[in-house]
Amino acid sequence: MSFKKMRDFSHTLSFRLAIWYAGIFLVSMLLLLSIFYYYITSNVIKNMDLSLEEEMREFCSLMDKSGLQSVKKYMAIEVESEAEDVFFRLVSADGQEIDMATNYSFKDVQLLDKFIPLVKNNAANIFATIHVTDYPNRLRVVSGEIGQGVILQTGQSFEYYEKFISILNNFLFLVALPLFVLSTIVGWFMSRQALKDIEKVTLTAEKIAQGDYNQRVELQQSTLEVEKLAHAFNNMLDRIQALIKGLKEVTDNIAHDLRSPLARIRGKAEMTLVSKNFPTDCGTMAASTIEECDNLIDMINTMLDITEAEAGVGHTEQETVAINDLMLSACELFEPIANEKGIKLKVVLPESQLYFKGDKHKLQRMVTNLIENGIKYNRPGGTVTVTLKEADRELQILIEDTGIGISEQVLARIFDRFYRCDASRSEPGLGLGLSLAKAIARASGGDIQVKSTINAGSLFIVSLPL
Ligand code: ADP
Repeated sequence: MSFKKMRDFSHTLSFRLAIWYAGIFLVSMLLLLSIFYYYITSNVIKNMDLSLEEEMREFCSLMDKSGLQSVKKYMAIEVESEAEDVFFRLVSADGQEIDMATNYSFKDVQLLDKFIPLVKNNAANIFATIHVTDYPNRLRVVSGEIGQGVILQTGQSFEYYEKFISILNNFLFLVALPLFVLSTIVGWFMSRQALKDIEKVTLTAEKIAQGDYNQRVELQQSTLEVEKLAHAFNNMLDRIQALIKGLKEVTDNIAHDLRSPLARIRGKAEMTLVSKNFPTDCGTMAASTIEECDNLIDMINTMLDITEAEAGVGHTEQETVAINDLMLSACELFEPIANEKGIKLKVVLPESQLYFKGDKHKLQRMVTNLIENGIKYNRPGGTVTVTLKEADRELQILIEDTGIGISEQVLARIFDRFYRCDASRSEPGLGLGLSLAKAIARASGGDIQVKSTINAGSLFIVSLPL
């Protein structure tokens, strides 16, 4: 996966949701474990303290009844009989060790000395948890007075508790880690599932942006929120489509309504001109009326053609068109005009015939508009090269000229209706040819791109999907 793909992937909502899901799972698991550890530890310590207190009470009553010697003997018996690691230490009130009995090697005995003054000051049993050298587990120890001036110190190891915790840790590691990975994967799939329908909305919006206003979001059994979004989106599209349709109908009607009176005016002017029964001035006027009418009718027809091409996105007439032949005949058509202007018209075609499924007449108009511009906005001695090729599963028509070029500032506007660059206003034209060419390319599922350098020439690339 490339760096860009990885970066894009990390910006997806699915990825972020999965990370959040895994993060929340991890934090809640840690929180639960902490509570569990705290609960177990405090309970273990409570139980240890209870049993140590019980032990102290036993020694107290023994000291009371039978004296120090019996205590020492009992200590020895306890140490012998106990399976667990235990120790007993008798200390005088001034800190002198009287006796020590243990069934394991207890170094660091002096660690216990610090509790003796506390026993004297508090007159109570003092509990503490300590770590001693060379002993793997912690110890819970108690120090308390069992007779006049005699302090007993004893303790229990955390051995069983720590064994239990280590087993629990191993278990958790074995279970929690796969569970964490699994929860991340499940989180990823769940968020993907939830966002799949949103992707459908995006896809529909993209298709609409390409000009297919008939697209709608279709969902089967989605979540309520996404269903609401799709419903609102579809409603909005219905409304927009109705508005566009209304607007187009108005312009179309105006164009239609203008066409008939214009044709009538033109017809009358023509009749006047043919009859020759009029002064010369009237003849000139009739001729210019015919010319203006022709321009207006041409403009109206092109506007209607653009509307038709745009409305017909995905619904153009489909026939298999031999593109090599189409290009050749278009160039033959323009050969005399190019010669007249001193421009060389070159055609580069692939050896084998290329075919495209589309509307032949419209494709012809698209190509001729582009070739015509290449000649029109060229200079004497210039060249127009028309190339046809197949690349990346698309058909490409390249029309390159060595003409006046288009400045970068206006390059994006040349496909707008009625737009004409200042430099080309001296040439005849309506500013509709490129709009029509683009509408046809898009209606055929393709597009037109342009590259141009002012005073050097332009390159128009028509790409049509195969
Ligand atoms: P027009 O009828 O004016 O040719 P088009 O829609 O075909 O209308 O073109 C729009 C404008 O784009 C033109 O007026 C011209 O300024 C510019 N243009 C189009 N093709 C070329 C080209 N090959 N070289 C330079 N300018 C061009």
